[in-house]
Amino acid sequence: MKVKNLRWGPSGPRSLPKGHNSWLSYWTTNYGRTVTVCKNKDCDNPSSVGGHVLPPDGKRSNNWYIVPLCDECNSEQNRHEFEVEPRHLVIISSQLS
Ligand SMILES: [Zn+2]
Repeated sequence: MKVKNLRWGPSGPRSLPKGHNSWLSYWTTNYGRTVTVCKNKDCDNPSSVGGHVLPPDGKRSNNWYIVPLCDECNSEQNRHEFEVEPRHLVIISSQLS
């Protein structure tokens, strides 16, 4: 599934849900396992952050996703769409505060 970094979407990054000290921790709790590799299919760097992503047509969606990414894929330089496995996405509602 193609996604893009939410930083460049219609809204900026959002505050962490209570009880989590990072988005990677939020992802791990909801996914149920830890991972060590960036989930961009074209990348095998170590994962270091829980990146916010959304479908390329996400302006019409209320759902955003967290997926483990490396610093490079989560960087401000990375404005390209990239491919991830849908099963690696942890959904967050954009209504959540
Ligand atoms: Zn990466």
